[in-house]
Amino acid sequence: MRFAALLKWLFGYPGYIWPINLFFVAVTCATWFYTQPALALCINFEAGWITQIYLRNLALMWLYYGGFHLYLYTLKREGTHQKYNKKWPARKSRVFLFGDQVYDNIFWTAGVGTIIWTGYEGVTMWLYANHHIPWLDWAMHPGYFILGFFLVPLWREFHFYWVHRLIHWKPIYRHVHYLHHKNTNPNPWSGMAMHPIETALYLSVVLIHWVVPSHPLHFLFNLQHAALSPANGHHGFEGPIANGKVPTGSYFHYLHHRHFECNYGESTVPLDRWFGTFRDGQPDGEGAKLPEEHPS
Ligand SMILES: [Zn+2]
Ligand SMILES: [Zn+2]
Repeated sequence: MRFAALLKWLFGYPGYIWPINLFFVAVTCATWFYTQPALALCINFEAGWITQIYLRNLALMWLYYGGFHLYLYTLKREGTHQKYNKKWPARKSRVFLFGDQVYDNIFWTAGVGTIIWTGYEGVTMWLYANHHIPWLDWAMHPGYFILGFFLVPLWREFHFYWVHRLIHWKPIYRHVHYLHHKNTNPNPWSGMAMHPIETALYLSVVLIHWVVPSHPLHFLFNLQHAALSPANGHHGFEGPIANGKVPTGSYFHYLHHRHFECNYGESTVPLDRWFGTFRDGQPDGEGAKLPEEHPS
């Protein structure tokens, strides 16, 4: 029975593999084969191949975050039926850059976020091209090659939990993480609306590839998963959406934005349960007392 449950968790729909993680593996493969500059070009830092990566990443940002925003918030195709917070974000507010939540969020996510994302990618491609970091050959180690894709999302959650707890430490929170928490009623673009220091810490999840032997495809999967999946965690809707076909959304992280001192990680790796920071959102539910609501 336990084995059956494990199989269901792995291969069910929605399960660990399908649709979200497999979707990102497919995006990684497509970008690697069709849009990534050849590794031989990356031996020296040059404007051409770095610009190619930057523009490709910017396009992914607009397609992914922009797609969710267009569908859920501009066209409002799902209404508010499955929206956690039934109110649409007020949008105009002086706490945000340009006095507008969406413009503020786009500036930090697509503007600043894409530059830092490209920075990590450029340096790591240069390191791979110059053989400065360990390489995993898929033909020699097919088992490890496949295992790498399984482990990346788990490593992402582990890393995110600890980085997130670190930036909730008051001195760092006051100067860095406060910016992300302005979004008490988040939208897809809030996903990477972070202070540049937070974005750099958050994307440092890929530094593991500098020491653990891996293929650039593992690195790219890790990086794109980190850079794009916050759209799913912040759009504020309980999936499945699109006529019940697309499972997406994170009530878990929505509660973090609403109640602030809880749910630092995500729900696959149960670090919040182990360290007593889990809340299920019910006044007398698991995790007992809900922390104060974050002041809007
Ligand atoms: Zn936080
Ligand atoms: Zn968030």
